[in-house]
Amino acid sequence: MAVTFQKKCCKCRKNYVTVTARQNYVVCYECQKKAMSGEIKDPEMKKMFDIPEEFYKQNTFLCDIKVKYLQYGSLTERQIEAFKRVAKELKAKSK
Ligand SMILES: [Zn+2]
Repeated sequence: MAVTFQKKCCKCRKNYVTVTARQNYVVCYECQKKAMSGEIKDPEMKKMFDIPEEFYKQNTFLCDIKVKYLQYGSLTERQIEAFKRVAKELKAKSK
């Protein structure tokens, strides 16, 4: 098991986030949610990001990818693959 601890959100400095020792910049789900609320026009991407909200809550990586996409309007093949893989894993776990 990875060592986890509580860290204050870097954005609102109000909520605590459970992180592993490696993470320096942490953002709580409330702040992520705001950043993730943009509109996605690409139907392919829309479909990919259309996963249960729980998944985003459980996995900050998924949030990061979505925020990045909304920020830059595109993702690398690698990011897309990783996103799909993680989403699939969470789906398998939730069954
Ligand atoms: Zn926050």
